[in-house]
Amino acid sequence: MLKPFYITTTLPYVNADPHIGFAMEIIRADTIARVKKLAGHEVFFNTGTDEHGLKVYRKAKEQNIDTQTYVDGLSKKYKELLPQLGILPEIAFIRTTDPRHKRAATEFWNRVNANGFIYKKAYSIKYCVGCELEKTESELHEGRCPLHPAQDLETIEEENHFFKWSQFQEKLLTFYEANPTFVIPDFRFNEIKAFVARGLEDFSISRLASKMPWGVPVPGDATQVMYVWFDALVDYISTLGWPDDDASFTKWWIETGGAVQYCGKDNLRQQAAMWQAMLMAADLPPSKTIVINGFITGDGGLKMSKSLGNTVDPLDIVRDYGTDALRYYVLRELTAFEDSPFTSEKFKDAYNAHLANGIGNLTSRILKMVTTYGITLSEAEKKMRYYTEEIADQFTHSFDLSKKTGEVWQKIAMLDEHIQRTEPFKKIKTEPEDAKKDVHEILVHLYEIALMLEPFLPETAVTIQTLIKENKMPEQPLFMRK
Ligand SMILES: [Zn+2]
Repeated sequence: MLKPFYITTTLPYVNADPHIGFAMEIIRADTIARVKKLAGHEVFFNTGTDEHGLKVYRKAKEQNIDTQTYVDGLSKKYKELLPQLGILPEIAFIRTTDPRHKRAATEFWNRVNANGFIYKKAYSIKYCVGCELEKTESELHEGRCPLHPAQDLETIEEENHFFKWSQFQEKLLTFYEANPTFVIPDFRFNEIKAFVARGLEDFSISRLASKMPWGVPVPGDATQVMYVWFDALVDYISTLGWPDDDASFTKWWIETGGAVQYCGKDNLRQQAAMWQAMLMAADLPPSKTIVINGFITGDGGLKMSKSLGNTVDPLDIVRDYGTDALRYYVLRELTAFEDSPFTSEKFKDAYNAHLANGIGNLTSRILKMVTTYGITLSEAEKKMRYYTEEIADQFTHSFDLSKKTGEVWQKIAMLDEHIQRTEPFKKIKTEPEDAKKDVHEILVHLYEIALMLEPFLPETAVTIQTLIKENKMPEQPLFMRK
C-alpha cells in the first residue's frame, strides 16, 4: 500500500474577490494532488476561506452588511471558482467560521494554554491592517509597511494573550536541521532559518472583543477573541476532523507525515515558523513540507495585490481562453518560485505558440493521418499508464512544476520534429506499409503525451485520449488561434 498524501493551499482571506495569485496556488496544488492520485496514492486535498479578523470586519461595516452575510458571499465566490480552474471535485473546503473549525481552534488554544505557552500582558504595537500583522520597527520602510505604503499603521494598546514563540527558537532550528527539505525552495528555507536564528518574540494571539468582536472567542476570557492567524492556521487540521475524528487525523496527518502546504512568499513566517511552533506547543507533529510560491506581478514587476487593486481576474482568462489555457500559463510560463509577470500580451503569445500551435496543431496533424489511414491503438496500448510512484516522487522532491510542464512540451516538440523529418504523409504514397507503421508509432507517442498531460491540463488530456480511442478528428481545433 502506498502512503496516503495530504496537500493544502493557504486559505485565501475573504476581503476581496479571488485573484490570480490564488488561482496559481490552487492550480499548482491540484496538479501535485492529481500526480499523486494517478500514481495510486490516496489523497486529501484541502482549501477553504479565512474569514475572521479586522479587515473583514471593516469591509462588512463599510458595505453596511452583517459580517456573516459578507463572508458567506465571498466564500461562495471562492467555492464557485474551483470548477472553473479545473480543480479536483473532491477537494475539501473548510471555512474558518464553520462550527467544526471554531471547535478545533478552541481545543487547540486549550492545549497550548494547558502546556503553559499562553500568558496575558498589556502592550502597545504598530499594526498593518493590510497584512493583518504586527510590524516591528525593523520591518518598516520609512515608518510604513513596505507592502501597504498607502495605509497608515495603527497603534494598538491593550491587554492581550501572548504566545510564547520565544521558547521555540532552538526547537525550530533543530527541527529545520533534521528536515533539510522542509521548506522549498532552498533560498526561502535559508531566509526563515536566518529569521528564527535572530531570535523570536512572543506575539499577541488575541484582540479585545469590545473593539473587534469578529473572531473565535478565547476560551475562559469573554473579553477577548483569537487573533485571526492563530485561528486560521488550525484549519490544516480542523479540516481533517481534529480533535474529534481520531481515525481521520491519524490517517491524514500522522501516516502522511503532515500536510504539504502551498503558500505565497508573504506566508513564509506564518507557515514555516509560527504554525510549526504552535503545533509543537500543542504536542502535535509538524507539517511535512512548505512550498513557497513567488508573487505574480503586473507590468514592470509591480506587485499585484488586492490592496493595490491591479489584479487580473482569473475568470476573465477562463472565459476568453479556457480553463486549461490558464492552467498551462500558471504552471509553465510562471517560474516555480520567483516572482513572474502576468500580462495579457505575454499570455496571448504563450497561448498561440504552445497551445494553438504546439499541442493543438500536433494533435490535429496526427489525428488527420491516423483517421485517413485507419490506424488504431491495440488494447494493450490503450491500457498504458504514465504516472508511477517514482515519477510522483520527483514531483514532490522538486515541486518545480514549470520544469515538469516543460518536459511535456519537449516531448511535443520532439514528436513534431520527428514528423517533419520522416514525412509519413509523403511516404504513404511509395511505401504504405512502412508509413503506417511509422504513424502507429507516432500515435503511441501522442497517447503518451496525453497521459503525461493529465495532471496539468486534465480536460485537454482526456479529449485527446478519447479522440485517439474513438479514432476521430476533433470537430474544432483544441485551442483556437487568438
Ligand atoms: Zn502591510
